[in-house]
Amino acid sequence: MSPPPAPVVACPGLACAACGAWVGCERVTQTRWAWVHAGLRPPGCPGLAPPAATVVYLLHFVPAYRHARHYLGFADDLPARLHTQASGRGARLVAVALAAGCQISLVRLWPGTRDDERRMKNQRAVPRLLCPACPTRAHARRLAAGQGVLLDPPGGAA
Ligand SMILES: [Zn+2]
Ligand SMILES: [Zn+2]
Repeated sequence: MSPPPAPVVACPGLACAACGAWVGCERVTQTRWAWVHAGLRPPGCPGLAPPAATVVYLLHFVPAYRHARHYLGFADDLPARLHTQASGRGARLVAVALAAGCQISLVRLWPGTRDDERRMKNQRAVPRLLCPACPTRAHARRLAAGQGVLLDPPGGAA
């Protein structure tokens, strides 16, 4: 039984180095992800060229692992890092969640640095508020106000 195809998780602000269109990350198999154009492949793009940028990513667990429903991480090579995570060789929290039978999915992406990751982790409610798979009243209010992205722009506070 194969899982339903996951949608592309866009990374607003991160552009294909070949054509300038926004990119996103698509789950290819249970343990592999790949960069893709966030929309249709732009005519004239010779082929996706992922920018050399670091990202902050949010994983969502189903079901929650104890009280943990998310993992917020940083990657300089996102597909490689996600593969490591999904293989249980990444963060301990992700590994134990997988071992307990949780499914993990990539739900959000931001261009960002390790400092952005640290700042977001320090705000304890942030992952839940940022997760599109975890609607909350505060989340709904933010979206209604056009403030779906907390870091706008990422690192803007620095
Ligand atoms: Zn392109
Ligand atoms: Zn969530």
